[in-house]
Amino acid sequence: MAGIYIHIPFCKQACHYCDFHFSTSMKKKTEMIEALAKEIITRKEEFSEKIETIYFGGGTPSLLLVDEINFLIGTIYSNYKVDAKPEITLEANPDDLSSEKIKALAQTKINRLSIGVQSFFEDDLKLMNRAHNAKEALRCLDNATKYFSNISIDLIYGIQHMSVEKWKKNIHTALSFNIPHISSYALTVEPKTALAKFIKTGAMPDVDDELAQQHFEILVEMLEKKGFVHYELSNFGKEGYFSRNNTAYWLGKKYMGIGPSAHSFDGKNRSWNINNNTKYLNSIHNGVLPKETERLSVTDRYNEAVMTGLRTIWGISLHKIENKYGKPYKDYLLKQAARYIKEDLLTFTDNKQTLKTGKKGKFLADGIASDLFMLKDIA
Ligand code: SF4
Repeated sequence: MAGIYIHIPFCKQACHYCDFHFSTSMKKKTEMIEALAKEIITRKEEFSEKIETIYFGGGTPSLLLVDEINFLIGTIYSNYKVDAKPEITLEANPDDLSSEKIKALAQTKINRLSIGVQSFFEDDLKLMNRAHNAKEALRCLDNATKYFSNISIDLIYGIQHMSVEKWKKNIHTALSFNIPHISSYALTVEPKTALAKFIKTGAMPDVDDELAQQHFEILVEMLEKKGFVHYELSNFGKEGYFSRNNTAYWLGKKYMGIGPSAHSFDGKNRSWNINNNTKYLNSIHNGVLPKETERLSVTDRYNEAVMTGLRTIWGISLHKIENKYGKPYKDYLLKQAARYIKEDLLTFTDNKQTLKTGKKGKFLADGIASDLFMLKDIA
């Protein structure tokens, strides 16, 4: 089984915190759709497996017309073997989801919406420079839940000066729509973003890690009480509603990334397309795939297994580490993990065969993982 990710590199405006690849000029949208279809067709020999998930990410895929979405999905169906019950996700922003658009999307093969709400408060949305307002967020969820059962929303925590009460209200509002999946991320200061500049010049206060941790703990507690499984550091789903696309990625399955800046993984090699719309279009026009490829070393793959293992409920299987990468990797892992086990940040399960982050260590998973990384190949 494999997945296809399609990157739609356009947004109405730049959110202050975002470092994804997109352009705010829509002039080349039609040309881009044609180029994406051409890349899908050109790469069809790469996968003989069935396509289990299709994911429109970005950028802002909800800027596409329904006909354009149907055209891209149709191109995949005509050139690949697609599973009988695939998960087909569209990332969408609330301001694009009018009731007519949602109705029309429900007639397509899209069966999952991932909606970028981020906050239900006007001042937060303005601070982040989101294109939608709080009313649109509420209205779009009202409409979306009438036509789709599989819906995820994104929420951002750790926004400067956001009180605990306000954060709880955001979670309560999200829960009131009875949606089965929530992804939630800490506001992170990425280099070269407007947010980084505002903080550097003193126009905005810096983010506060302690506040973010407090918000995270509240989030975990409130969602688990409502029956959500915290299956990945930033992802919470009701049983049967975990993102199949992301889970496949975390479990190391193959995926093909189509479009500028999209990444691919064929089981051994990782590749990535150029992150420039004009260069991407020219290259596809000239029949050349604009991608670079890197073969992952044993150490790269060990490090990835450690990172995803600590972020997910599946943990790190010691048996798999030994089988796939060798005993020296397992020994190194146990040596590095010892102090975290002592501090109760990591715990053993399955007769000491699986290592997981404990309740205390969840928020720190990325930092702990980096301490368990191997820095160079074992000879
Ligand atoms: S809409 Fe999404 S991709 Fe576009 S700028 Fe905002 S966060 Fe980034």
